[in-house]
Amino acid sequence: MAGVCLFGSLPAKASARLQAWEFDTGQNRLVFSTESGVEPQVSWLSNPQRLVIDLPGILTEESLGDQFVGGAVAAVRVTQADAQTTRMVLELNPNYSLDPKQVKVWGLTSQQWVVQLPGSTPVAADGGLTMPDFSKAARPRPLAAAGADPLPPLISRNQINNVAVRATATVLRGVQTTAEGFFIPTAGATPQVRVYRTRDANQARQIVIDLLDAAIAPGLTPEALPQGRYGIHHWSISQFATAPPAIRLTLTLDGFSPDWQITPLASGGIWVTPIGVAPSQIATPPTTVVLPVLNPVVTPPPIAQSPPPTATVPAPAIASTPAPRPAQGQVLVMLDPGHGGVDPGAVGIGGLQEKGVVLAVAQHTAAVLRAQGIAVQMTRQSDQTVDLQPRADMATAARATVFVSIHANAVNMQRPEVNGLETYYYSETGQVLAAALQRQVLSTMAMNDRGVRQARFLVLRRTAMPAALIEIGFVTGATDAPKLRDPRWQAQMGQAIAQGILNYLRSQP
Ligand SMILES: [Zn+2]
Repeated sequence: MAGVCLFGSLPAKASARLQAWEFDTGQNRLVFSTESGVEPQVSWLSNPQRLVIDLPGILTEESLGDQFVGGAVAAVRVTQADAQTTRMVLELNPNYSLDPKQVKVWGLTSQQWVVQLPGSTPVAADGGLTMPDFSKAARPRPLAAAGADPLPPLISRNQINNVAVRATATVLRGVQTTAEGFFIPTAGATPQVRVYRTRDANQARQIVIDLLDAAIAPGLTPEALPQGRYGIHHWSISQFATAPPAIRLTLTLDGFSPDWQITPLASGGIWVTPIGVAPSQIATPPTTVVLPVLNPVVTPPPIAQSPPPTATVPAPAIASTPAPRPAQGQVLVMLDPGHGGVDPGAVGIGGLQEKGVVLAVAQHTAAVLRAQGIAVQMTRQSDQTVDLQPRADMATAARATVFVSIHANAVNMQRPEVNGLETYYYSETGQVLAAALQRQVLSTMAMNDRGVRQARFLVLRRTAMPAALIEIGFVTGATDAPKLRDPRWQAQMGQAIAQGILNYLRSQP
């Protein structure tokens, strides 16, 4: 076989099966697990370009055919190459160029492997957060692994599995809930982290964070871990290897959880924040510092404990402060056309830019509201660059009654079948507004209903008044894109949003 051999093979008995695999388009990586240990043999073939992963000693079910993936990888094909070998083939999209030397392969264990492709699939730049399209996300094929324990295990509660280990570079001290997500304080050296995503046997998404050369602080209890916060049902922490020592954190997510990014800090600790919320954007320090109670019977690992993160007084949560109101009888609508200036927002079919579409729609909305005697301000009136926080600040300073952010959606260009309307809220008062917008727009515009959803967009979190963010269609959608660029449709959409806002205002006492 011609190609670049990245890994050698070891003999293995040919009775174990391929248990599960998943291609994560967001991370551009393949994760798979086998019933027994395996040394994958990875080759790169061109014309057409594809990555071939042979698993010596592994059998597979005949029913495993092609799975369409989308993005950089067009499809994953699993076949029995010969009686002794399972072959996984990642067919690359022709417009995706890949340097095979950049392909990284590593074993989480001898039975769980990650094949990481360079680069990542482009994602929508949107209001500070990209929501993955869970409804149509690539799911692993159900594998008929009769009699075999599915991997990874189901986790139904917080758990900690601690095992005494010798000296390690890093000690995990707990998990703190913060205003923006979670912070995992550590002592000792900068955490060495590997992250992958998978699903448990119930198809719940899991994020697995391995900390290398690390130990769990003695005395840390499952009760000290967050439970049911921000869409993460359970945390499991275990000392899954002792020589060399390594910790595995498994986060089990519910269907509404955002995807999370894992950022280790050189100064110690690991941020777990929604994708799109970079730790540098986090203004509020950890609000609670849950330190494990050190058990004096157990000798702590002999390394220097660094001081805890500076515990400054957290800023009061904006959502809990009373909304500033305009003078009695005055209603003010703050409209927020997304992006602008140097930030085009999502770019879709034919180079269609979100920033232009949403400005045009917002201007129509403003005109309709003003014709009804409603005062309107806009966070931008032209193609200008405005940051996210100033948009929220404008609404606060103007004592706006409601805040409505207008965006257009996107997935990658290989998903033209994804079309429709979504409206987001963060607070409970925002939910009522979001529902009113979604209902009114759906009643007048022929669009696919993708639902009203809660999300942690910055402009929704930092505004005290009822706030909603409407995604008026997909610039990458074959159905939506031609409408989004049509000035007549933009006017209708602007009018529909205005009517939705009026419906909401009339429903309020
Ligand atoms: Zn946007």
